[in-house]
Amino acid sequence: MPKSRMRHSGLAIALPPPISVPIPEPPPMSSGTASNSDGFTTEPNTPSPAQSLALLPKPQGILSFPDGDLILQSNEGDDFGVHLDVLQSVSSYFDEDGEFAKPPQSPGPDIHTRRINLSTGTLDLLLRFLYPSRHPPSIDSTERAITLMQAAADLKIECSWIDKGITSYLSSVPHPLRAWAIATRFGYKAARREAARRFFETNEDFYDDVPVELEHVSAKQFMELQRAKARAVAMARDAINKVEWGCDGCWQSWNVNLNDGRPWKSQFLRRVSELNPFAYDATSEVTFELSMVRGECGHCPKSFVSEEAKDARRILRAQLDEILRNIK
Ligand SMILES: [Zn+2]
Repeated sequence: MPKSRMRHSGLAIALPPPISVPIPEPPPMSSGTASNSDGFTTEPNTPSPAQSLALLPKPQGILSFPDGDLILQSNEGDDFGVHLDVLQSVSSYFDEDGEFAKPPQSPGPDIHTRRINLSTGTLDLLLRFLYPSRHPPSIDSTERAITLMQAAADLKIECSWIDKGITSYLSSVPHPLRAWAIATRFGYKAARREAARRFFETNEDFYDDVPVELEHVSAKQFMELQRAKARAVAMARDAINKVEWGCDGCWQSWNVNLNDGRPWKSQFLRRVSELNPFAYDATSEVTFELSMVRGECGHCPKSFVSEEAKDARRILRAQLDEILRNIK
């Protein structure tokens, strides 16, 4: 967690509500200079002559504060007016003794420019996370997510809004191993756990669909994920095997080892044996009910609605949730 996130107090910035999935669209940006209700000022980009000649596409507006005490210049030459203490609150990279502080020998205006090796688009996105508004920025592609994480890593930035944005974006990446590999590479724990959970919840091994992003994690890390999944699945199967409740009919007719012999239980175990134990189908009410009906014991369907049976199913689902919650 970052230390005090918003030490800078000269701005009236409304902190946004927690980010929901998916992240809302970013605020519309005007092409003229105008302050919006968040206190941001968007400024028209002033292209260099070279850019004009090349007719490069220009961003419509970039995040820049007129009262900033530091100008960060992207490697495309665009200036971002920012506040040094806001940057320092999320990163030691902008340490007061470092190159970003105002040189003590310069008495002039209290503002200075530092070049930073990020594209205009990446620097803009990064700053929009560091200055959270009511409209959290949106990450719209894996490439953009990786660029943002790389920039945050290079600048030693720890920012819970970036964590949330990345977790939200990666949870929308369909391939759980792709999301897991990206989150693992850059050390985003919440995103990694969420991706691991989705990998645990499927029987798909993805051997025919290996994401290229796995190249950035070690074989050891991947083996640990596989081992954690095997353990979680084994624990889930154990919990499923132990689910039990009484049935008067079974006691009368099947006076055998009940764990093997109870008709509904045999049906149930056969039904779920091919399913991932965390999949909804494995322990849904429908699955249990079908097993009761197919069990050739006239009393089993009646016992299905007993308090004991309801408790047994509730406890089983709680155990499965607990296993997934403990993913590291
Ligand atoms: Zn029965």
